[in-house]
Amino acid sequence: MNVKIKNIWNKFKFLRSLKARIFIIVFLTGIIPSIVLRYGILENYEDRAVSLRTSDMQNQLNIIANHLITYNYLSDTSSEVISAELEQLSNLYDGRVMIVNSGLKVIKDTYGTSEGKTVITEAVIKCMKEGTGGSNYDYEYGYIEITTPIIETAAAPVANNGVPASAEKKNDVVRGVMLTSVSTESINTTLDILSRRALLLEILMLLAIFAIALVLSNVLMKPFERVAKAISEVKEGYKDEPISVPDYLETEHIVDAFNQLQNRMRVLDTSRQEFVANVSHELKTPITSVKVLADSLLAQEDVPAELYREFMVDIAEEIEREDKIINDLLSMVKMDRTVATMNVGVVDVNALTEIILKRLRPIARKRDIEVVFESRRAVTAEADEVKLTLIITNLVENAIKYNKEQGWVKVVLDADHQFFTLEIMDSGIGIPADSLEHIYERFYRVDKSHSREIGGTGLGLAITRNAVLMHRGSIKVSSTEGEGSTFTVKIPLNYVMT
Ligand code: ADP
Repeated sequence: MNVKIKNIWNKFKFLRSLKARIFIIVFLTGIIPSIVLRYGILENYEDRAVSLRTSDMQNQLNIIANHLITYNYLSDTSSEVISAELEQLSNLYDGRVMIVNSGLKVIKDTYGTSEGKTVITEAVIKCMKEGTGGSNYDYEYGYIEITTPIIETAAAPVANNGVPASAEKKNDVVRGVMLTSVSTESINTTLDILSRRALLLEILMLLAIFAIALVLSNVLMKPFERVAKAISEVKEGYKDEPISVPDYLETEHIVDAFNQLQNRMRVLDTSRQEFVANVSHELKTPITSVKVLADSLLAQEDVPAELYREFMVDIAEEIEREDKIINDLLSMVKMDRTVATMNVGVVDVNALTEIILKRLRPIARKRDIEVVFESRRAVTAEADEVKLTLIITNLVENAIKYNKEQGWVKVVLDADHQFFTLEIMDSGIGIPADSLEHIYERFYRVDKSHSREIGGTGLGLAITRNAVLMHRGSIKVSSTEGEGSTFTVKIPLNYVMT
């Protein structure tokens, strides 16, 4: 069934075109009223002409009916006057008149074929009984049949007091019926002529409307074609100036949306280029150092073993740094992929934090920094353990890295019914206010040389923020230069799928 519908729909695929729809709408709006008008007017004309003809005839027949009584025609059909009147009437209206007497016998037929015959039709009997005429139009054969009673009005009997009785009480006696049939051929001929003319007009209108619909559908669609053209021109390369098709509000909206998209793509493109430049630079720096170190060793002859060792330690450090950058880049790329899979499971956040802090304490101890964990409640959450580890590790590592000798780091874990929060506070160097909004950018470092010295890549916070966002959480920072910083991470206890 569905396949069938699909096939039919495929056949009418052109209907999906707005141009075709505009054409059809304009065409139908133009043509339907003219067809309706044609039928309405012609139909009305026929009814009106028939009813006019009928009432005309009825008037004439009533006059003749009176004459029939006056000339006593029902008893004696020799009256020349009446015969002439009947003849004239039947000629004028191309009809036939039969006069039927009270015995239902035809005493006069203008066709002369039915005289002497008896007529028993419902219309005649009804007319005879009730004394009222009637008419009937036969659409199929095109004639009107009229029955007219022949009424003799006797003078009202005079009451005892000499006053005549009221009009209703006159003694009306139906003496016979005039049965007339009139052809409506002339009406039909007129109708035919009118209908032919209407058809001609209709065909002319059809052609005109067809042309108008064709032109309109083309003209109205032009701005949309311009939008498509402008967009395909842009496809070849970003244009600097925004495109503009202000003909309609609709095209303006489409173009505005497109310009916004183009701007966004431009920003993305710039940031991608910046990123590639940064990555190349960052990767190149350790390699350059390694090369310089190696070259200077090679340039000297008989280099003492200690100097070799010293240089080799430096080279190893640079390689380690390169390794770190590559690792950070890899975890960032993994996180950046929109299809990045979240490996969500139930995580004991307290235990996880303890493990991470245990691993980092030896590093802190080297600079005499105390790392404290304050757990305000037991927290288990639905989270990706690897990413959560990355978040806590990066933040605590930073708190240690950017700290003072003999400083402290404090990690506070708390939760309400919806979220758990991790606060990582330190007594470190703090972050200048104007750097706060940049610290999550890739490769951003407040103090490049200091960060480099202590092994920073500028990617840590970018990775951390991504990992937090993937948990539908948030990360905030407050910091005072020279006093320390506090990073607050807030993550839902239950992972929200989208
Ligand atoms: P890096 O690898 O250089 O540490 P991050 O992305 O982790 O890169 O951090 C970006 C910059 O933010 C760091 O270079 C540092 O200047 C600053 N920063 C991050 N955490 C802290 C902190 N706890 N105290 C002071 N400065 C910090």
